[in-house]
Amino acid sequence: MTRYLATRGADTNKTFTDVLLNGLASDGGLFIPEKWPTLSREDISHLGGVPYADIAYKVTEGFIGDSIDKTTYKNILRDVYQNEFNHSCVAPLVQIGPNAWVLELFHGPTLAFKDYALQLLGRLFDHVLEQRGERVTIVGATSGDTGSAAIEACRHCKNIDIFIMHPEGRTSDVQRRQMTTIDAPNVHNIALQGTFDDCQNLVKAMFNDKKFRGDMNLSAVNSINWARIMAQIVYYFTAAISLGAPARQVSFAVPTGNFGNIYAAYAARQMGLPIKRLIIGSNRNDILTRFFETGSMKTQSVEPSLSPSMDIQISSNFERYLCDLLGRDTAGIAKLMKSFKEKGSFSINAEHMRQATQEFDARRCDDHQTQALMAACYKETGYILDPHTAVGLFAGMQVREDPSVPLVALACAHPAKFPDAVEKAIGLRPQLPPHLADLFDRTELYTPLQNDLAKVQDFVRSNVNR
Ligand SMILES: *Cc1c(COP(=O)(O)O)cnc(C)c1O
Repeated sequence: MTRYLATRGADTNKTFTDVLLNGLASDGGLFIPEKWPTLSREDISHLGGVPYADIAYKVTEGFIGDSIDKTTYKNILRDVYQNEFNHSCVAPLVQIGPNAWVLELFHGPTLAFKDYALQLLGRLFDHVLEQRGERVTIVGATSGDTGSAAIEACRHCKNIDIFIMHPEGRTSDVQRRQMTTIDAPNVHNIALQGTFDDCQNLVKAMFNDKKFRGDMNLSAVNSINWARIMAQIVYYFTAAISLGAPARQVSFAVPTGNFGNIYAAYAARQMGLPIKRLIIGSNRNDILTRFFETGSMKTQSVEPSLSPSMDIQISSNFERYLCDLLGRDTAGIAKLMKSFKEKGSFSINAEHMRQATQEFDARRCDDHQTQALMAACYKETGYILDPHTAVGLFAGMQVREDPSVPLVALACAHPAKFPDAVEKAIGLRPQLPPHLADLFDRTELYTPLQNDLAKVQDFVRSNVNR
């Protein structure tokens, strides 16, 4: 029976449904499976040519246990991956050089890889809530990509009301319109008169207000939810299998912010997928690359870059990896995280550092290098990289030693999501795909609100469907 523990030791023996609905452990730790389920070489070799939704079932069934009826879960996966993605492969590979590939993860409704997990998460939430006869209210803050992916994931859910706050006038037009043009009775956009930090602080304050939290049955779908990691493991399997796994090893290069996506790659390796190198790409906000150079995790201020979805101060999901690295010493993790919160830094010893650098490579790529690679790739192949993809590919090319090992760079967003950066690099404005071609003609729906907790809470209270 699959059970979950929490990285700082608080909650043990949790089921999949517990960790799905709770997101975060009661002491602020993150959930991880007690044991990694594994697929044998033979299991993997049988997955060649199998549809994405069915590979997803094989790869994730071990994490679900009997929390969800097997047939129901299979049907949910088919509904998500056969209906919501605009490419028959779901996550296709495109060759951009000798033994070098891009894994396109932008064929979902909002054109970023977050759809691959959030589309499933919305369906799973709705199913579990239906069975329990409950409703939840999801509140979230967004500076761009996550808000639209969460709204798209919840718009058809019967048991969820979703409220997403964005800082008024501070998101890109494409990003805002992807959120505000969804016309559904359970979707509410708030344009907050403040910054992204103000939005985040209001979300935290709503969660800290116990009565409000209870009355509204508040929930979140943020990047530390285990089910999001689980769903992301799948495309590492489908890509590696297409390129010859298990007989052949593959390396992955991943543009990294919160460490969710690259951690899913690590999980795939723990489950038995033969992965050669796991390569982290960071932009100028390079806390992870500095960690892999020095053994110290140390926060700095955040600087804006051409790849804004990676402009982060800390990588929350790193704690999950740290838990494995420290042999699941949850008391030790609790101590490190306390130091990190108080002093803004922690360090690991030389032996752990040796292991960490065997398991990952990390490289930084500044805005200049990002643009140069986007331009070179377009010139040589005609392929348009988005700036995040370019950061990952740059890191992959720096690390690559053995050209006989396929290098797969994850394309985490469609270039049309970042038209200004693309135009600056290649002199051409990328087109939105057909399902979003009329985005700028659609009606926007949002409510401007002052940066005031009571006003935001009133708005939520009077708009939930009960
Ligand atoms: C969210 C996001 C990232 C960062 O992914 P993590 O899982 O947080 O490391 C990178 N690129 C794009 C386009 C994103 O939307």
